[in-house]
Amino acid sequence: MQTEFDLIIIGAGCAGLSLGMQLASLQAQAPRTLLLEPRIAYENDRTWCFWGDEQTPFAALARHSWQRFSVNNAVSRALVDCSATPYRLLNAADFYTQALEAIASNTALDLKTGISLTAEPSLTQGRWHLHTTGGSFSANAIVDTRPLPTQQLSETTLWQSFLGCELEFQEPRFDPTSAQLMDFYPETEAFVGFNYVLPVSTTRALVEFTVFASKIYDQAELVSYLDAQVEKLAGGRPYQRLRNEYGLIPMGVGQPKGTATPAEQHPSYVRVGLTAGAARPATGYAFQRIQRWALACKQSIQKNGLPVGHQPDSFVIRQMDAIFLNVLRHHPELGPELFMRLFSKVSSEKLIRFLSDQGRVSDYLAVILSLPRGLFMKSACQVAAMR
Ligand SMILES: Cc1cc2nc3c(=O)[nH]c(=O)nc-3n(C[C@H](O)[C@H](O)[C@H](O)COP(=O)(O)OP(=O)(O)OC[C@H]3O[C@@H](n4cnc5c(N)ncnc54)[C@H](O)[C@@H]3O)c2cc1C
Repeated sequence: MQTEFDLIIIGAGCAGLSLGMQLASLQAQAPRTLLLEPRIAYENDRTWCFWGDEQTPFAALARHSWQRFSVNNAVSRALVDCSATPYRLLNAADFYTQALEAIASNTALDLKTGISLTAEPSLTQGRWHLHTTGGSFSANAIVDTRPLPTQQLSETTLWQSFLGCELEFQEPRFDPTSAQLMDFYPETEAFVGFNYVLPVSTTRALVEFTVFASKIYDQAELVSYLDAQVEKLAGGRPYQRLRNEYGLIPMGVGQPKGTATPAEQHPSYVRVGLTAGAARPATGYAFQRIQRWALACKQSIQKNGLPVGHQPDSFVIRQMDAIFLNVLRHHPELGPELFMRLFSKVSSEKLIRFLSDQGRVSDYLAVILSLPRGLFMKSACQVAAMR
């Protein structure tokens, strides 16, 4: 069994497999890479959605796409045309199948599943040593995609918690040409809540209830909200629940507590993934940011053998996201009204570029001008004072 590698990737989920695919594409130039993953088998455990044209990574693998979506509260509705960059839905199962095939096609890469670390990686004489339930391995560099425990993320500004299920009706019930991005739950001081409905056919849809809040909502706390939404959609008609999914995404992680040991600060060790800067703070969208990171990481490894972490967002994006999240944290009851203003006042192209990290200066300006100035100035002062 081979035990010495150029690179070890700890965790082969979205980030680990995305980098694995990028490295596999280097063919004979690929570094000798070991991917370690505790799960034994991959299942269709989530769906990834993103806006993108046909050139966007994984656009071709998406199961469904929408050219328009709606955002509404009790009194108003905004219908947004996104035909230039449709909103696309990718099943995790399709992504995993493609990734596993690509990795298996290059003998320089070795994915070991059902393997857990028995100790933290240690650095001795410039090489990393890992002890696992499947043997001991060493490498020049490490990409660590393990999610950090929530206790280490106590500086997170807001948590996005969501519970969803896939429903199949016997009779046509949905319009598969339009997604419902946010249908707001009535204003409350506890959270910003909304229903999310993605119809993939006239009879089948993914339905989720999401909250943005300063605390984490576990599955049990979200069940009654989701069930109420499902019953409302069903209106007494028979349906089948095909699959459930629960998600927890930190929005604005701040400085994680007690992570980087002196060894981890070495340039040959990088921490990436959802809890290490992959998620856009203001939205929680991470999939396309992970794809951009995987490409940049491959290029860096090709250049100097060293992996890189996620690029920090630009100063402007960081400030705007921090100010927006600070408003939602302190005034969740204003959330529905703020989102409605954003989606009804800013042109769809500007808004989608802004949400997908492709914003230009004029897009940021349009977003700022759509929101109540007094409230945001106050929040900007609070964010500045926190530094
Ligand atoms: C249900 C759900 C839906 C989402 N939907 C979207 C979406 O629509 N659009 C979007 O942009 N983003 C979405 N996200 C956010 C983000 O894109 C995903 O969370 C994405 O999977 C993050 O990739 P990751 O590699 O950081 O984490 P994961 O994909 O979770 O991979 C982490 C890997 O580390 C492994 N691991 C865990 N512990 C250990 C350990 N101790 N040792 C070794 N390995 C370990 C896990 O088994 C896993 O394979 C969603 C997240 C969830 C949870």
